[in-house]
Amino acid sequence: MSHPAAGKDATATTSDPACIFCRIVRGDLPAHKVYEDEHVLAFLGNSSSSTCHTLLIPKKHYRELRDMPADSMAVLGARMPLVADAVMSGMGAQDFNILQNNGHIAGQKVLHVHFHVIPRYKNDRHWPRS
Ligand code: IMP
Repeated sequence: MSHPAAGKDATATTSDPACIFCRIVRGDLPAHKVYEDEHVLAFLGNSSSSTCHTLLIPKKHYRELRDMPADSMAVLGARMPLVADAVMSGMGAQDFNILQNNGHIAGQKVLHVHFHVIPRYKNDRHWPRS
């Protein structure tokens, strides 16, 4: 069985002018950047639910996980430990959660693939909402 995104062109330039995260990638909206390279960007979320709750995104616009070509997903996955390490060492956190929502019912509010990197501390609050 082939994945629906398997044949997609990972080199296509995709950006949605109406997407908040695409606007952050373009520099049209401000963001506190945690990590950036050619393919991905990590920046602090604007939620107050967790200090230094960070979002890791592909720079290209994909609506949800199943839209991402395998090679883009591989690059993003390879960056996840780097970003988690930066978040944890920067905040002195002991552990972290990775959270990823797909679709309205699942709680996805911004329709550009993103992974939440959530620093955790001993005896911190309940499981944070996105
Ligand atoms: P979702 O519910 O999984 O779609 O998560 C959306 C995330 O995007 C939440 O953590 C929000 O705090 C974050 N967010 C939405 N708009 C902005 C913004 O303009 N700057 C930074 N983070 C944002």
